[in-house]
Amino acid sequence: MQELIIIGGGPAAAGAAVYSARKKIKTLIITPEFAGQSVVSNEIGNWIGSKSISGLDLSKNLEDHVRSFVGPDLAIEEDKVVAVSKVEKGFIITTEKGKSFDTHTILVASGSRRKRLGIPGEDRLDGKGVAWCATCDAPLFSGVDVVVIGGGNAGLESVLDLHAYAKKIYLLHRRDNLKADEVTQEKVRALSNVEIILNTEPKEILGDNFVSGIRCLDKVANEEKTLPVSGIFIEIGSLPNSDFVKDLVERNVIGEIVVDHKTQSSSLPGIWAAGDVTDVLYKQNNISVGDAIKAILSIFDYLHHHHR
Ligand SMILES: Cc1cc2nc3c(=O)[nH]c(=O)nc-3n(C[C@H](O)[C@H](O)[C@H](O)COP(=O)(O)OP(=O)(O)OC[C@H]3O[C@@H](n4cnc5c(N)ncnc54)[C@H](O)[C@@H]3O)c2cc1C
Repeated sequence: MQELIIIGGGPAAAGAAVYSARKKIKTLIITPEFAGQSVVSNEIGNWIGSKSISGLDLSKNLEDHVRSFVGPDLAIEEDKVVAVSKVEKGFIITTEKGKSFDTHTILVASGSRRKRLGIPGEDRLDGKGVAWCATCDAPLFSGVDVVVIGGGNAGLESVLDLHAYAKKIYLLHRRDNLKADEVTQEKVRALSNVEIILNTEPKEILGDNFVSGIRCLDKVANEEKTLPVSGIFIEIGSLPNSDFVKDLVERNVIGEIVVDHKTQSSSLPGIWAAGDVTDVLYKQNNISVGDAIKAILSIFDYLHHHHR
């Protein structure tokens, strides 16, 4: 039986693993990969201790640090958690590969995944013009017209990534004003090849073997129009990976795990959560790590009182 199972392989899980190993808590990490969401970033400039680091190097550094502790107190299982059930002495965790593990406590650090539009053409043309990472894929759209969907920071940052490559960029947003930071908005508004289209909802992604356009609805004029584009970047937010504990812990309306922000404990004793899977207001690498460390210190106290 494990004392702790950490679910995830991003910054929160890595920070937690380093602290749990140093506290000699018998820990298993279950994750399909060691890569946080910012693995796709070319340059991260706010990871404390590095003036500039790529997302890939950041993930590799975190993984190396975690792996340096593998031994009697820390093991890694490359798998995905699909279910968690409560038993008398703790929990049973079941994975996608059909394995199960017993544990006294759990730290959920499974982050979040991209929200999808849920419109015709999105799945069929995924990877065939429908794209999810401007930083990674912008050069593939050199000299063609593209649409970026989403008026938050992620959407506008995608526009900034694309503007050096794409011929024209339509920024589509369903509301009447953009949500991104003012500074980012100013940078986007200064670009000559960007057209901002507000109050407009995407309805269908068009194309046979590759994206050829997007049909959308202008909600103010109540008129449909088609933008002929070859690329569609979807940046409409993310959803927490918390379904496997949905019957055990309190979650908010969007599925984020509600935690006590002093200790990161969930509503069910024995389960903690940290990082983007929680209802923390600001989703950042450094915050995820810090919150995960708070969780480990709290789990250490809990294990002393209940299981040691
Ligand atoms: C494009 C982009 C750029 C960003 N740039 C920055 C930046 O410059 N600076 C900054 O501070 N923040 C940045 N962020 C935000 C930052 O990446 C997140 O706040 C951070 O990654 C959250 O870390 P996390 O460990 O909570 O979750 P995640 O990074 O989402 O990691 C979750 C981990 O859990 C694993 N997992 C998921 N489901 C399961 C499951 N069922 N079982 C087991 N494992 C599972 C995943 O494989 C992954 O390893 C960026 C985000 C994006 C999308």
